[in-house]
Amino acid sequence: MIELNTDITKISRVGLATAKKLKKLGVETVQDLLFYFPYRYDDFSQITPIRELKTGISANVVGQIELIQNKRSPRKRMYITEALVSDGEESLRVVWFNQSFITRVIRVGDTVSLSGKIDEDYGGEIMKSPAYEKISGYQAVHTQGLVPNYHLTADITQKQIRFLTKQIIGLADMTTDWLPGETRNSAGLIRLGEAIGKVHFPKSQEDILAAKKRLAFDELFLVQLRSQMAKMSLNDARAERIIFHEKETKKFVENLPFKLTNSQRKASWEILQDIGKDKPMTRLLEGDVGSGKTVVAAIAMLNVVLNKKQSVLMVPTEILAQQHFYSIGKLLSGWGIKIALITRSKKEISNYVLEETNKRERVSEIIRNADIIIGTHALIQEEMMFDKFGLVVIDEQHRFGVEQRSILAKQKSAMMPHLLSMTATPIPRSLAMALYGDLDISVINEMPKDRKKIVTQVVDEKGRERAYQFIRNEVKDGKQVFVICPLIDFSDKLGVRSVKQEFEKLDKNIFPDIKMSMLHGRMKSVEKESIMNDFLANKIKILVSTSIIEVGIDIPNASIMMVEGADRFGLAQLHQFRGRVGRAEHQSYCFLFTDSDSSRVLNRLTALVNHHDGFSLAKIDLKFRGPGEVYGTLQKGFPELKMASLFDYELMKLAKEEAEKILKDDPKLSKYYALKEKAGEVEEAHLE
Ligand code: ADP
Ligand code: MG
Repeated sequence: MIELNTDITKISRVGLATAKKLKKLGVETVQDLLFYFPYRYDDFSQITPIRELKTGISANVVGQIELIQNKRSPRKRMYITEALVSDGEESLRVVWFNQSFITRVIRVGDTVSLSGKIDEDYGGEIMKSPAYEKISGYQAVHTQGLVPNYHLTADITQKQIRFLTKQIIGLADMTTDWLPGETRNSAGLIRLGEAIGKVHFPKSQEDILAAKKRLAFDELFLVQLRSQMAKMSLNDARAERIIFHEKETKKFVENLPFKLTNSQRKASWEILQDIGKDKPMTRLLEGDVGSGKTVVAAIAMLNVVLNKKQSVLMVPTEILAQQHFYSIGKLLSGWGIKIALITRSKKEISNYVLEETNKRERVSEIIRNADIIIGTHALIQEEMMFDKFGLVVIDEQHRFGVEQRSILAKQKSAMMPHLLSMTATPIPRSLAMALYGDLDISVINEMPKDRKKIVTQVVDEKGRERAYQFIRNEVKDGKQVFVICPLIDFSDKLGVRSVKQEFEKLDKNIFPDIKMSMLHGRMKSVEKESIMNDFLANKIKILVSTSIIEVGIDIPNASIMMVEGADRFGLAQLHQFRGRVGRAEHQSYCFLFTDSDSSRVLNRLTALVNHHDGFSLAKIDLKFRGPGEVYGTLQKGFPELKMASLFDYELMKLAKEEAEKILKDDPKLSKYYALKEKAGEVEEAHLE
C-alpha cells in the first residue's frame, strides 16, 4: 500500500533513473512530492482570441509567430522588433523597442504567449512591448485551464511531475494538519490536505489563492511562532550597560575621511542607546550593499572598548574577515585598540602574527588580550571566554543561520552580550519587523552622497570585444576590474566559463600587458590573502574570481564588474556582485555576459539594467523564480519560504497576530501537540 512515507520508487513508472533526478529536487517519498509545490501557473483559461481584442484593454494572446524582424527606426536611434502573430483565425501586429535580441529568442513558427495592452496606430490594432514567453506543447486549445509549473532541474519534465503527482494526490488528506482549528477558522484558511490538492490541481484562480494562502500562512506562522518564543526566552536576560562616550565618539566621527549620512547617524544613535540599557540588544542593521554599515558597527565597538569590554565581529568568509581586520584596524587606528583575527588558518593580533605552534594556548591568549575579535565561524569552535564580551556583531547575517544563536548559547556568564546583526537583505523595514519578531531594526536607507549609479549592460558575444576595449581604457585610467565566472575548473558543460580558463585566456591573449590574478575557494588562505592585499594595493588590475568575493569585499578603486554566465546567478546575487564596484565617487560599470537565448533569462537580467536597489530587484526575482528560489539562495538557515512572499505584508501581519494569540493562551504549546512538534521540527532543521 502506498503511504506518505512510501519511497517514491514504489509509484508506478518511477524507475531508478527518475528517482535519482527526483532526489536532486529533494523528493524521496510520496510526502515530499506532495509538498513539492508549483511556483506559478500558465493560465490558459484567460486567453483572448485575437478577433475579440479591443484598443486600450490588456489581454493575453497565444498564437504562432508568422513573421519577426528587426528594423532601425528612421527617426530615433532605436531598434524596433516587429512581429505578426496568428491564433489560427486572425493575426495581430506586435512591436518591441530596443530589444533586438528577441529575434534570437523567438522565431517564425514558434508558439508564444503574449500579454500586454492593445494600442492603435495608423495600421490598426497593435500590441506594444508585451511580456512574452515561448511555449511548447500547446495545442491551440483555449480551455486547458490552469497548468502548474514546477522548478525543475534538467531531464525531468513538467509533464512527468504532473503525471506522478496525479497518482498520489489522493493521499493529501493523510497529512497531519498541525495548525490549531481555531487558528484556521479565525484566519480563514482551508485544511492542509485540501490546500495540497488545490495547489497542484486548481480548477480556478480562487483555488490557487485559497491554497497559496493556507500554505504561505503556514510558513510565516511558524517563523512568527519561533521568533516570539525566542523573544519570550530573552525576557529575563541581563546585559552590561555600555555607557555612551560622547566626546570620543564625536572625535572619531570628525576624523573619518567622509561625512556620515543621516541614516548612518540615526542607526548609530539607535544602537548606542540600546546598548546603554541593561537588557541585551538584539538589533538588525539593514542597509543596501555599499551603504556603509561597517563604520556604524565600528562606532558601537569603539564605545564597547571605552567601557573596557570586548567586541566580537563575525563574518561569513575568510577574505572578508581579513578585510575587516585591515579596514577596521585603519578606522580605529590611533585609539590603542588591539584587534585580533581568528580564522581557520590564521590567528593573529594587531600586527603580530603568532606561531602556529602551541595553538590552543596562543588562541586563548590572543582572545584574552584583544579588544575587538574579528573572525569567521572558526570563532565558535574556539574556547572563547564569553563573559567579557559586551557586544557581538554578525556581518552578512543572512549567510549564517544558526551560528549566531549558538554563539550566544555559549555564553557562560549570567550576562548576555548585546547582539548586532547586519545584512543587505532587501526587505523593507515594516516587513523585517514582522518577520524577525524578536529583533529591533535599524535601517540605512541612503547611499553616501558622492555615489553614481552603476551603468549596467547585458552583453552578448558580439559585444565582448568592445567590453574588453573598455576594460583596457579603464585600467589605463588607473581603475581596477573584477571578472566573475561561475566555475573554478573547466567543465564539459558547454559555454560555462571557468576561472582558470578565463584567466589563462585573458592573461595570455587579451591583456598580456596588464597585471592580473585569479581567486577561488580552493586556493590556500595565504595565497588568497596576498592576492586580496595586492588587489587592494592596486598592484593587480584585473581579478578573475568565483562568487567568493560576493559579499562584503570593499575595493573602492574598482570600477568594472564583469560577470560571465550571468544567467546562472540570481538577481540578488548579481546585485551583490555589482555592489563590489561603485563604492567611491567615480563612475562604475557592470557588464552581464550571457549567451542564453531564453526570453525569461534576458528579461530577468534586464531588470538589473533598470533597477538599482536590492529591494526592487528582490521583488522582480520573486516574480521570475518564486520565493523559495530567491530566499533559498539568498539566505542560509533562513526559514524556507516556498510559498510565502516577504512582500505579502497582510499575511505576515495575520500570521503574527495568530501566533500571538496562541502563545498568549498557551505559552508552552502544551495543548497543541501537533503544532509543538512541527515548531520543534523547524527548530531542529535549523540546527543541522
Ligand atoms: P556595506 O554596507 O556594504 O558593508 P561598507 O561599510 O563596506 O558597506 O562601506 C562601503 C564603502 O563606503 C567603504 O569604502 C566605506 O569606507 C565607504 N563609506 C562608508 N560610509 C561613507 C560615507 N558616509 N560617505 C562616503 N563613503 C562612505
Ligand atoms: Mg559590509
